Amino acid sequence: MRLSAQKPTPAPTPPPANPKLAALKAEAMRDIDSRAQFTQQFVDQVFSFGELGFQEFETSKYIVGVLKANGFTVREGVAGIPTSWVATWGSGKPVIALGSDLDGIPQASQIPGVACHLALVPGAPGHGEGHNSGQAVNITAALAIKKIMERDHISGTLKIWPGVAEEQLGSKAYLVRDGVFKDVDVVLFSHVGSNLQTGWGASQGSGLVSVLYSFEGQAAHAAGAPWRGRSALDAVELMDVGWNFRREHLRLQTRSHYVIRNGGDQPNVVPPTAAVWYYFRELDFKKIKDLWAIGDSVAQGAAMMTGTKLASERVLGSAWPGHFNRPIAEDMTENIKLVGLPKWTADDQRFARAIQKEVKGDSTGLDTVVAKLEGDVPDSLNMGGGSDDIGDISWNAPTIVLLYPSNVPNLPGHHWSDAIAMATPIAHKGATAGAKAQALTMLDILLTPALVDSAWSYFRNVQTKTVKYEPLMRPEDRPAIELNTDILARYRPEMKKFYYDPKKFPNYLAQLGITYPTLRKADGSCAATPNTLQ
Ligand SMILES: [Zn+2]
Repeated sequence: MRLSAQKPTPAPTPPPANPKLAALKAEAMRDIDSRAQFTQQFVDQVFSFGELGFQEFETSKYIVGVLKANGFTVREGVAGIPTSWVATWGSGKPVIALGSDLDGIPQASQIPGVACHLALVPGAPGHGEGHNSGQAVNITAALAIKKIMERDHISGTLKIWPGVAEEQLGSKAYLVRDGVFKDVDVVLFSHVGSNLQTGWGASQGSGLVSVLYSFEGQAAHAAGAPWRGRSALDAVELMDVGWNFRREHLRLQTRSHYVIRNGGDQPNVVPPTAAVWYYFRELDFKKIKDLWAIGDSVAQGAAMMTGTKLASERVLGSAWPGHFNRPIAEDMTENIKLVGLPKWTADDQRFARAIQKEVKGDSTGLDTVVAKLEGDVPDSLNMGGGSDDIGDISWNAPTIVLLYPSNVPNLPGHHWSDAIAMATPIAHKGATAGAKAQALTMLDILLTPALVDSAWSYFRNVQTKTVKYEPLMRPEDRPAIELNTDILARYRPEMKKFYYDPKKFPNYLAQLGITYPTLRKADGSCAATPNTLQ
Protein backbone atom coordinates (compact mmCIF):
# COMPACT_ATOMS: atom_id res chain seq x y z
CA MET A 1 0.00 0.00 0.00
CA ARG A 2 0.98 3.58 -0.34
CA LEU A 3 -1.05 6.52 0.86
CA SER A 4 -0.96 9.68 -1.18
CA ALA A 5 0.50 12.74 0.50
CA GLN A 6 -1.38 16.01 0.48
CA LYS A 7 0.22 19.26 -0.54
CA PRO A 8 2.54 20.49 2.22
CA THR A 9 1.41 23.60 4.10
CA PRO A 10 3.33 25.57 6.76
CA ALA A 11 2.50 24.45 10.28
CA PRO A 12 2.66 26.68 13.38
CA THR A 13 4.21 25.18 16.53
CA PRO A 14 1.74 25.19 19.45
CA PRO A 15 2.97 26.01 22.97
CA PRO A 16 3.46 22.93 25.20
CA ALA A 17 0.43 22.48 27.44
CA ASN A 18 2.15 20.54 30.20
CA PRO A 19 5.76 21.42 31.18
CA LYS A 20 6.56 17.95 32.60
CA LEU A 21 5.29 16.24 29.45
CA ALA A 22 7.14 18.77 27.29
CA ALA A 23 10.38 17.97 29.13
CA LEU A 24 9.86 14.23 28.64
CA LYS A 25 9.21 14.82 24.95
CA ALA A 26 12.43 16.79 24.59
CA GLU A 27 14.27 14.01 26.40
CA ALA A 28 12.73 11.32 24.15
CA MET A 29 13.76 13.21 21.02
CA ARG A 30 17.36 13.53 22.25
CA ASP A 31 17.39 9.86 23.17
CA ILE A 32 16.14 8.89 19.70
CA ASP A 33 18.84 11.02 18.09
CA SER A 34 21.40 9.13 20.17
CA ARG A 35 19.99 5.87 18.76
CA ALA A 36 20.45 6.96 15.13
CA GLN A 37 23.09 4.29 14.46
CA PHE A 38 20.82 1.54 15.87
CA THR A 39 17.97 2.79 13.65
CA GLN A 40 20.22 2.98 10.58
CA GLN A 41 21.62 -0.52 11.04
CA PHE A 42 18.12 -1.91 11.60
CA VAL A 43 16.85 -0.29 8.36
CA ASP A 44 19.88 -1.55 6.41
CA GLN A 45 19.71 -5.06 7.87
CA VAL A 46 16.07 -5.63 6.90
CA PHE A 47 16.67 -4.02 3.48
CA SER A 48 19.40 -6.58 2.80
CA PHE A 49 17.04 -9.51 3.53
CA GLY A 50 14.53 -8.36 0.86
CA GLU A 51 12.03 -11.10 1.73
CA LEU A 52 8.52 -11.49 0.28
CA GLY A 53 5.27 -11.99 2.17
CA PHE A 54 5.05 -15.07 4.46
CA GLN A 55 8.77 -15.72 3.84
CA GLU A 56 10.09 -13.05 6.24
CA PHE A 57 12.12 -15.65 8.16
CA GLU A 58 15.45 -13.79 8.38
CA THR A 59 13.65 -10.50 9.01
CA SER A 60 11.55 -11.87 11.86
CA LYS A 61 14.48 -13.78 13.39
CA TYR A 62 16.50 -10.57 13.47
CA ILE A 63 13.71 -8.41 14.91
CA VAL A 64 12.68 -11.00 17.52
CA GLY A 65 16.36 -11.17 18.56
CA VAL A 66 16.51 -7.40 19.03
CA LEU A 67 13.27 -7.38 21.03
CA LYS A 68 14.28 -10.27 23.32
CA ALA A 69 17.66 -8.65 23.94
CA ASN A 70 15.77 -5.55 25.09
CA GLY A 71 13.56 -7.33 27.58
CA PHE A 72 10.44 -8.02 25.52
CA THR A 73 8.55 -11.29 25.87
CA VAL A 74 7.91 -12.67 22.40
CA ARG A 75 5.19 -15.07 21.28
CA GLU A 76 6.11 -16.51 17.88
CA GLY A 77 4.06 -18.22 15.17
CA VAL A 78 1.02 -16.07 16.00
CA ALA A 79 -2.26 -16.96 14.20
CA GLY A 80 -0.58 -19.97 12.56
CA ILE A 81 1.81 -17.74 10.61
CA PRO A 82 5.43 -18.89 11.04
CA THR A 83 6.92 -15.41 10.45
CA SER A 84 4.49 -13.61 12.74
CA TRP A 85 5.07 -12.75 16.42
CA VAL A 86 3.85 -10.44 19.17
CA ALA A 87 6.38 -8.86 21.55
CA THR A 88 5.19 -7.47 24.88
CA TRP A 89 6.81 -5.38 27.59
CA GLY A 90 5.44 -3.60 30.65
CA SER A 91 2.21 -4.07 32.55
CA GLY A 92 -1.20 -2.57 33.02
CA LYS A 93 -3.04 0.11 31.09
CA PRO A 94 -2.85 1.68 28.65
CA VAL A 95 -1.86 -0.96 26.11
CA ILE A 96 -0.20 0.59 23.05
CA ALA A 97 0.24 -1.65 19.99
CA LEU A 98 2.93 -0.63 17.50
CA GLY A 99 2.81 -2.26 14.08
CA SER A 100 4.54 -2.05 10.72
CA ASP A 101 4.96 -4.22 7.64
CA LEU A 102 7.94 -6.43 6.82
CA ASP A 103 7.67 -7.67 3.25
CA GLY A 104 9.17 -6.75 -0.10
CA ILE A 105 8.12 -6.68 -3.77
CA PRO A 106 8.85 -9.32 -6.45
CA GLN A 107 11.59 -8.43 -8.98
CA ALA A 108 12.44 -5.20 -7.15
CA SER A 109 16.06 -6.05 -6.30
CA GLN A 110 18.06 -2.81 -6.51
CA ILE A 111 21.45 -1.56 -5.38
CA PRO A 112 20.67 1.28 -2.98
CA GLY A 113 22.18 4.70 -3.49
CA VAL A 114 22.21 4.33 -7.30
CA ALA A 115 19.66 6.50 -9.12
CA CYS A 116 19.04 4.16 -12.08
CA HIS A 117 18.02 0.53 -12.44
CA LEU A 118 20.79 -1.76 -11.23
CA ALA A 119 19.63 -5.00 -9.62
CA LEU A 120 21.68 -6.48 -6.80
CA VAL A 121 20.45 -9.97 -7.77
CA PRO A 122 18.66 -9.86 -11.14
CA GLY A 123 15.07 -11.16 -10.92
CA ALA A 124 15.14 -11.31 -7.11
CA PRO A 125 12.70 -9.57 -4.77
CA GLY A 126 13.66 -6.40 -2.94
CA HIS A 127 12.28 -3.59 -0.82
CA GLY A 128 10.54 -1.79 -3.69
CA GLU A 129 8.17 -0.02 -1.34
CA GLY A 130 10.21 0.51 1.81
CA HIS A 131 8.74 -1.93 4.32
CA ASN A 132 12.30 -2.43 5.62
CA SER A 133 12.05 0.76 7.69
CA GLY A 134 8.84 0.67 9.76
CA GLN A 135 9.87 -1.74 12.50
CA ALA A 136 13.00 0.37 13.02
CA VAL A 137 10.73 3.39 13.54
CA ASN A 138 8.55 1.56 16.08
CA ILE A 139 11.28 -0.24 18.00
CA THR A 140 13.51 2.83 18.26
CA ALA A 141 10.53 4.72 19.69
CA ALA A 142 9.61 1.84 22.01
CA LEU A 143 13.13 1.57 23.45
CA ALA A 144 13.25 5.31 24.18
CA ILE A 145 9.84 5.25 25.87
CA LYS A 146 10.56 2.02 27.76
CA LYS A 147 13.61 3.72 29.32
CA ILE A 148 11.46 6.62 30.54
CA MET A 149 8.68 4.28 31.76
CA GLU A 150 11.16 2.21 33.77
CA ARG A 151 12.81 5.21 35.39
CA ASP A 152 9.56 7.08 36.17
CA HIS A 153 7.49 3.95 37.01
CA ILE A 154 4.88 4.78 34.37
CA SER A 155 2.13 2.18 33.98
CA GLY A 156 1.49 0.76 30.54
CA THR A 157 2.12 -2.12 28.16
CA LEU A 158 3.92 -1.94 24.82
CA LYS A 159 2.95 -4.53 22.24
CA ILE A 160 4.96 -4.72 19.02
CA TRP A 161 3.70 -6.78 16.09
CA PRO A 162 4.54 -7.22 12.37
CA GLY A 163 2.49 -6.76 9.22
CA VAL A 164 3.43 -10.06 7.61
CA ALA A 165 2.63 -10.37 3.88
CA GLU A 166 1.04 -6.92 3.61
CA GLU A 167 1.44 -7.06 -0.17
CA GLN A 168 -0.87 -10.08 -0.14
CA LEU A 169 -3.18 -8.45 2.46
CA GLY A 170 -2.39 -11.73 4.10
CA SER A 171 -2.10 -11.54 7.88
CA LYS A 172 -3.71 -8.69 9.78
CA ALA A 173 -7.28 -10.02 9.67
CA TYR A 174 -5.89 -13.27 11.10
CA LEU A 175 -4.18 -11.37 13.94
CA VAL A 176 -7.57 -9.83 14.71
CA ARG A 177 -9.19 -13.29 14.62
CA ASP A 178 -6.44 -14.54 16.97
CA GLY A 179 -7.38 -11.86 19.52
CA VAL A 180 -4.11 -9.89 19.36
CA PHE A 181 -5.94 -6.54 19.66
CA LYS A 182 -8.55 -7.55 22.27
CA ASP A 183 -6.92 -5.72 25.18
CA VAL A 184 -5.35 -2.91 23.12
CA ASP A 185 -6.18 0.74 23.83
CA VAL A 186 -4.50 2.40 20.85
CA VAL A 187 -2.78 1.08 17.72
CA LEU A 188 -0.02 3.23 16.23
CA PHE A 189 0.85 1.87 12.82
CA SER A 190 3.80 3.25 10.87
CA HIS A 191 4.21 3.10 7.10
CA VAL A 192 6.91 4.46 4.82
CA GLY A 193 6.03 7.65 2.97
CA SER A 194 7.74 10.79 1.73
CA ASN A 195 6.53 13.22 4.41
CA LEU A 196 5.70 13.12 8.11
CA GLN A 197 1.94 12.89 8.22
CA THR A 198 -1.15 11.15 9.46
CA GLY A 199 -4.89 11.24 8.83
CA TRP A 200 -8.25 10.40 10.34
CA GLY A 201 -11.56 9.04 9.11
CA ALA A 202 -11.98 7.05 5.94
CA SER A 203 -8.81 7.17 3.85
CA GLN A 204 -8.48 7.44 0.08
CA GLY A 205 -8.34 3.84 -1.12
CA SER A 206 -10.23 0.56 -1.13
CA GLY A 207 -10.77 -2.63 0.78
CA LEU A 208 -10.45 -5.93 -1.01
CA VAL A 209 -10.70 -9.65 -1.14
CA SER A 210 -8.02 -11.67 -2.92
CA VAL A 211 -9.18 -14.97 -4.41
CA LEU A 212 -7.43 -17.78 -6.27
CA TYR A 213 -9.77 -19.61 -8.70
CA SER A 214 -8.52 -23.09 -9.64
CA PHE A 215 -10.04 -25.00 -12.55
CA GLU A 216 -9.82 -28.69 -13.40
CA GLY A 217 -10.19 -30.12 -16.91
CA GLN A 218 -8.92 -33.24 -18.62
CA ALA A 219 -5.48 -33.80 -20.09
CA ALA A 220 -5.15 -35.19 -23.61
CA HIS A 221 -2.67 -35.13 -26.50
CA ALA A 222 -3.25 -31.60 -27.79
CA ALA A 223 -2.74 -32.69 -31.43
CA GLY A 224 -3.50 -36.45 -31.32
CA ALA A 225 -6.83 -36.36 -29.45
CA PRO A 226 -7.74 -32.77 -28.55
CA TRP A 227 -11.48 -33.67 -28.53
CA ARG A 228 -10.80 -35.87 -25.51
CA GLY A 229 -9.33 -32.97 -23.55
CA ARG A 230 -10.99 -30.17 -21.58
CA SER A 231 -8.63 -27.24 -21.04
CA ALA A 232 -8.53 -25.66 -17.59
CA LEU A 233 -6.55 -22.84 -19.21
CA ASP A 234 -9.54 -22.15 -21.49
CA ALA A 235 -11.63 -21.63 -18.35
CA VAL A 236 -9.05 -19.20 -16.95
CA GLU A 237 -8.90 -17.25 -20.21
CA LEU A 238 -12.68 -17.11 -20.57
CA MET A 239 -13.07 -16.03 -16.96
CA ASP A 240 -10.67 -13.16 -17.69
CA VAL A 241 -12.48 -12.24 -20.92
CA GLY A 242 -15.86 -12.43 -19.17
CA TRP A 243 -14.58 -10.31 -16.30
CA ASN A 244 -13.15 -7.68 -18.64
CA PHE A 245 -16.53 -7.34 -20.42
CA ARG A 246 -18.35 -7.18 -17.09
CA ARG A 247 -15.92 -4.51 -15.87
CA GLU A 248 -17.67 -1.90 -18.06
CA HIS A 249 -20.83 -2.36 -16.03
CA LEU A 250 -19.32 -2.01 -12.58
CA ARG A 251 -19.16 1.09 -10.40
CA LEU A 252 -16.39 3.50 -11.38
CA GLN A 253 -14.83 3.16 -7.90
CA THR A 254 -14.28 -0.58 -8.46
CA ARG A 255 -10.73 -1.76 -9.10
CA SER A 256 -9.78 -5.30 -9.98
CA HIS A 257 -6.77 -7.04 -11.43
CA TYR A 258 -5.49 -10.58 -11.89
CA VAL A 259 -2.47 -12.71 -12.69
CA ILE A 260 -2.50 -16.24 -14.10
CA ARG A 261 -0.75 -18.44 -11.53
CA ASN A 262 -0.96 -21.69 -13.46
CA GLY A 263 -1.45 -21.74 -17.21
CA GLY A 264 -0.49 -25.35 -17.91
CA ASP A 265 2.82 -27.07 -18.49
CA GLN A 266 3.50 -27.38 -22.23
CA PRO A 267 1.50 -26.81 -25.44
CA ASN A 268 1.08 -30.45 -26.48
CA VAL A 269 -0.68 -31.38 -23.23
CA VAL A 270 -4.20 -30.01 -22.80
CA PRO A 271 -3.85 -28.31 -19.39
CA PRO A 272 -5.73 -30.40 -16.80
CA THR A 273 -5.25 -27.69 -14.15
CA ALA A 274 -5.05 -23.90 -14.30
CA ALA A 275 -5.52 -21.07 -11.83
CA VAL A 276 -6.06 -17.33 -11.85
CA TRP A 277 -5.63 -14.95 -8.89
CA TYR A 278 -7.94 -11.92 -8.57
CA TYR A 279 -7.92 -8.82 -6.35
CA PHE A 280 -11.49 -7.41 -6.05
CA ARG A 281 -11.42 -3.87 -4.62
CA GLU A 282 -14.39 -1.77 -3.47
CA LEU A 283 -15.15 0.86 -0.86
CA ASP A 284 -17.07 -1.06 1.81
CA PHE A 285 -17.68 -4.55 3.14
CA LYS A 286 -20.96 -5.15 1.30
CA LYS A 287 -19.71 -3.85 -2.03
CA ILE A 288 -16.59 -6.02 -1.76
CA LYS A 289 -18.76 -9.07 -1.07
CA ASP A 290 -21.03 -8.20 -4.03
CA LEU A 291 -18.03 -7.83 -6.35
CA TRP A 292 -16.65 -11.15 -5.16
CA ALA A 293 -20.04 -12.79 -5.91
CA ILE A 294 -19.87 -11.45 -9.49
CA GLY A 295 -16.37 -12.94 -9.76
CA ASP A 296 -17.74 -16.30 -8.60
CA SER A 297 -20.52 -16.23 -11.21
CA VAL A 298 -18.08 -15.40 -14.01
CA ALA A 299 -15.82 -18.27 -12.86
CA GLN A 300 -18.76 -20.70 -12.86
CA GLY A 301 -19.79 -19.50 -16.32
CA ALA A 302 -16.27 -20.09 -17.62
CA ALA A 303 -16.27 -23.60 -16.20
CA MET A 304 -19.64 -24.37 -17.86
CA MET A 305 -18.48 -23.03 -21.23
CA THR A 306 -15.39 -25.20 -21.25
CA GLY A 307 -16.68 -28.42 -19.71
CA THR A 308 -14.26 -27.98 -16.84
CA LYS A 309 -14.84 -27.71 -13.11
CA LEU A 310 -14.27 -24.80 -10.76
CA ALA A 311 -12.28 -27.01 -8.39
CA SER A 312 -11.54 -24.59 -5.60
CA GLU A 313 -11.75 -21.00 -4.53
CA ARG A 314 -9.07 -20.00 -2.06
CA VAL A 315 -9.07 -16.68 -0.22
CA LEU A 316 -5.43 -15.57 -0.16
CA GLY A 317 -5.99 -12.27 1.58
CA SER A 318 -8.49 -9.60 2.56
CA ALA A 319 -8.58 -6.04 3.81
CA TRP A 320 -11.27 -3.80 5.18
CA PRO A 321 -11.13 -0.19 4.03
CA GLY A 322 -9.32 1.72 6.76
CA HIS A 323 -10.93 4.21 9.14
CA PHE A 324 -8.59 6.09 11.44
CA ASN A 325 -9.02 7.68 14.84
CA ARG A 326 -9.52 11.43 14.93
CA PRO A 327 -8.31 12.36 18.46
CA ILE A 328 -5.13 10.30 18.14
CA ALA A 329 -4.43 11.61 14.61
CA GLU A 330 -4.86 15.20 15.82
CA ASP A 331 -2.54 14.55 18.74
CA MET A 332 0.03 12.94 16.44
CA THR A 333 -0.16 15.94 14.12
CA GLU A 334 0.79 18.31 16.98
CA ASN A 335 3.77 16.06 17.71
CA ILE A 336 4.73 15.98 14.04
CA LYS A 337 4.98 19.76 14.18
CA LEU A 338 7.43 19.46 17.08
CA VAL A 339 9.56 16.94 15.19
CA GLY A 340 9.60 18.51 11.72
CA LEU A 341 11.17 17.02 8.60
CA PRO A 342 14.78 15.82 8.51
CA LYS A 343 17.49 18.17 7.28
CA TRP A 344 18.17 16.97 3.76
CA THR A 345 21.63 17.54 2.29
CA ALA A 346 22.31 18.77 -1.24
CA ASP A 347 23.31 15.16 -2.06
CA ASP A 348 19.96 13.83 -0.79
CA GLN A 349 18.09 16.33 -2.98
CA ARG A 350 20.29 15.67 -6.03
CA PHE A 351 19.74 11.94 -5.63
CA ALA A 352 15.96 12.33 -5.20
CA ARG A 353 15.64 14.56 -8.28
CA ALA A 354 17.73 12.14 -10.36
CA ILE A 355 15.50 9.19 -9.57
CA GLN A 356 12.33 11.24 -10.11
CA LYS A 357 13.65 12.20 -13.54
CA GLU A 358 14.66 8.59 -14.24
CA VAL A 359 11.06 7.36 -13.76
CA LYS A 360 9.44 10.45 -15.33
CA GLY A 361 7.93 11.68 -12.05
CA ASP A 362 7.74 15.36 -11.07
CA SER A 363 11.30 16.44 -10.19
CA THR A 364 10.36 18.21 -6.96
CA GLY A 365 13.06 16.56 -4.86
CA LEU A 366 12.35 15.72 -1.21
CA ASP A 367 9.62 17.51 0.74
CA THR A 368 10.85 20.31 3.00
CA VAL A 369 7.54 21.40 4.55
CA VAL A 370 5.53 19.19 6.89
CA ALA A 371 2.28 18.01 5.29
CA LYS A 372 -1.02 18.77 6.96
CA LEU A 373 -3.39 16.37 8.69
CA GLU A 374 -5.54 14.47 6.19
CA GLY A 375 -9.24 14.46 7.01
CA ASP A 376 -12.07 12.06 6.31
CA VAL A 377 -12.55 11.20 2.63
CA PRO A 378 -16.31 10.92 1.98
CA ASP A 379 -17.46 8.03 -0.20
CA SER A 380 -18.54 10.44 -2.93
CA LEU A 381 -14.95 11.67 -3.34
CA ASN A 382 -13.18 8.33 -2.90
CA MET A 383 -12.29 6.95 -6.31
CA GLY A 384 -10.61 3.89 -4.78
CA GLY A 385 -6.98 2.88 -4.88
CA GLY A 386 -4.59 0.74 -2.88
CA SER A 387 -5.51 -1.29 0.20
CA ASP A 388 -3.84 -2.22 3.47
CA ASP A 389 -5.09 -4.82 5.89
CA ILE A 390 -4.45 -2.34 8.72
CA GLY A 391 -8.08 -1.58 7.80
CA ASP A 392 -9.22 -4.70 9.69
CA ILE A 393 -7.36 -3.61 12.81
CA SER A 394 -8.71 -0.07 12.53
CA TRP A 395 -12.26 -1.46 13.01
CA ASN A 396 -11.22 -3.32 16.16
CA ALA A 397 -9.35 -0.65 18.16
CA PRO A 398 -8.59 3.06 17.72
CA THR A 399 -5.83 3.12 15.09
CA ILE A 400 -3.80 5.62 13.11
CA VAL A 401 -1.17 5.29 10.38
CA LEU A 402 1.93 7.46 10.66
CA LEU A 403 3.65 8.10 7.34
CA TYR A 404 7.33 9.00 7.79
CA PRO A 405 9.72 10.47 5.19
CA SER A 406 12.07 7.58 4.35
CA ASN A 407 11.33 7.52 0.62
CA VAL A 408 11.28 9.85 -2.38
CA PRO A 409 7.97 11.36 -3.58
CA ASN A 410 6.50 10.90 -7.08
CA LEU A 411 7.73 7.33 -7.69
CA PRO A 412 5.48 4.62 -9.20
CA GLY A 413 5.26 2.38 -6.10
CA HIS A 414 5.90 -1.38 -6.14
CA HIS A 415 8.92 -0.76 -8.35
CA TRP A 416 12.74 -0.96 -8.17
CA SER A 417 12.92 2.87 -8.00
CA ASP A 418 11.07 2.76 -4.69
CA ALA A 419 13.99 0.71 -3.31
CA ILE A 420 16.88 3.01 -4.21
CA ALA A 421 16.57 5.36 -1.23
CA MET A 422 15.64 2.70 1.31
CA ALA A 423 19.18 2.02 2.59
CA THR A 424 20.54 5.56 2.24
CA PRO A 425 20.66 8.60 4.54
CA ILE A 426 17.16 9.53 3.29
CA ALA A 427 15.66 6.34 4.76
CA HIS A 428 17.76 6.58 7.92
CA LYS A 429 16.87 10.19 8.73
CA GLY A 430 13.23 9.60 7.80
CA ALA A 431 13.05 6.63 10.22
CA THR A 432 14.53 8.71 13.03
CA ALA A 433 11.92 11.43 12.42
CA GLY A 434 9.18 8.79 12.39
CA ALA A 435 10.45 7.30 15.66
CA LYS A 436 10.28 10.71 17.33
CA ALA A 437 6.68 11.33 16.23
CA GLN A 438 5.73 7.84 17.39
CA ALA A 439 7.47 8.29 20.76
CA LEU A 440 5.91 11.67 21.52
CA THR A 441 2.45 10.30 20.80
CA MET A 442 3.16 7.28 23.03
CA LEU A 443 4.01 9.70 25.86
CA ASP A 444 0.72 11.53 25.33
CA ILE A 445 -1.20 8.23 25.43
CA LEU A 446 0.63 7.04 28.56
CA LEU A 447 0.30 10.28 30.51
CA THR A 448 -3.04 11.71 29.31
CA PRO A 449 -5.88 9.26 30.13
CA ALA A 450 -8.39 11.72 28.65
CA LEU A 451 -6.79 11.18 25.22
CA VAL A 452 -7.46 7.43 25.39
CA ASP A 453 -11.04 8.17 26.53
CA SER A 454 -11.68 10.48 23.60
CA ALA A 455 -10.10 7.96 21.20
CA TRP A 456 -12.61 5.33 22.38
CA SER A 457 -15.45 7.80 22.34
CA TYR A 458 -14.73 8.52 18.66
CA PHE A 459 -14.34 4.80 17.96
CA ARG A 460 -17.62 3.82 19.66
CA ASN A 461 -19.84 6.82 19.00
CA VAL A 462 -18.71 7.94 15.56
CA GLN A 463 -16.74 5.30 13.67
CA THR A 464 -18.57 2.11 14.62
CA LYS A 465 -21.94 3.65 15.41
CA THR A 466 -23.54 2.17 12.31
CA VAL A 467 -20.80 0.00 10.81
CA LYS A 468 -19.86 -3.24 12.60
CA TYR A 469 -16.82 -5.29 11.72
CA GLU A 470 -17.16 -8.76 10.33
CA PRO A 471 -14.26 -10.48 8.62
CA LEU A 472 -14.17 -10.74 4.84
CA MET A 473 -12.45 -14.11 4.99
CA ARG A 474 -14.62 -17.13 5.73
CA PRO A 475 -14.34 -19.17 8.97
CA GLU A 476 -12.61 -21.99 7.09
CA ASP A 477 -9.97 -19.73 5.52
CA ARG A 478 -6.37 -19.97 6.73
CA PRO A 479 -3.33 -17.73 6.13
CA ALA A 480 -1.76 -18.49 2.73
CA ILE A 481 1.64 -19.18 4.29
CA GLU A 482 2.89 -21.15 1.29
CA LEU A 483 2.91 -18.04 -0.93
CA ASN A 484 6.29 -16.99 -2.33
CA THR A 485 8.04 -20.16 -1.11
CA ASP A 486 9.17 -20.97 -4.65
CA ILE A 487 10.55 -17.47 -5.36
CA LEU A 488 12.63 -17.40 -2.17
CA ALA A 489 13.85 -20.97 -2.79
CA ARG A 490 15.13 -19.81 -6.17
CA TYR A 491 16.77 -16.54 -5.14
CA ARG A 492 17.72 -16.83 -1.48
CA PRO A 493 21.08 -18.56 -2.00
CA GLU A 494 22.24 -15.62 -4.15
CA MET A 495 20.60 -12.98 -1.93
CA LYS A 496 22.34 -14.42 1.16
CA LYS A 497 25.70 -13.31 -0.18
CA PHE A 498 24.55 -9.70 0.23
CA TYR A 499 23.08 -9.81 3.74
CA TYR A 500 24.32 -6.81 5.70
CA ASP A 501 26.98 -7.44 8.35
CA PRO A 502 26.99 -4.49 10.78
CA LYS A 503 29.98 -5.95 12.62
CA LYS A 504 32.14 -5.35 9.56
CA PHE A 505 30.58 -2.26 7.96
CA PRO A 506 29.09 0.91 9.43
CA ASN A 507 26.32 0.88 6.82
CA TYR A 508 25.07 -1.16 3.88
CA LEU A 509 26.34 1.29 1.24
CA ALA A 510 29.84 0.79 2.66
CA GLN A 511 29.44 -3.00 2.51
CA LEU A 512 28.35 -2.83 -1.14
CA GLY A 513 31.08 -0.28 -1.89
CA ILE A 514 28.67 2.30 -3.28
CA THR A 515 29.39 6.02 -3.37
CA TYR A 516 26.31 8.00 -2.33
CA PRO A 517 24.77 9.36 -4.43
CA THR A 518 25.64 7.55 -7.65
CA LEU A 519 23.84 9.10 -10.63
CA ARG A 520 23.57 8.02 -14.27
CA LYS A 521 26.90 8.78 -15.95
CA ALA A 522 27.43 11.55 -18.51
CA ASP A 523 27.53 8.95 -21.33
CA GLY A 524 24.08 7.73 -20.20
CA SER A 525 25.28 4.45 -18.70
CA CYS A 526 24.08 3.13 -15.36
CA ALA A 527 26.84 1.66 -13.22
CA ALA A 528 27.74 1.46 -9.54
CA THR A 529 30.48 3.87 -8.48
CA PRO A 530 32.88 2.15 -6.07
CA ASN A 531 33.19 3.86 -2.71
CA THR A 532 36.73 5.24 -2.65
CA LEU A 533 36.57 5.75 1.11
CA GLN A 534 37.07 2.02 1.80
ZN1 LIG B 1 2.95 -0.86 2.29
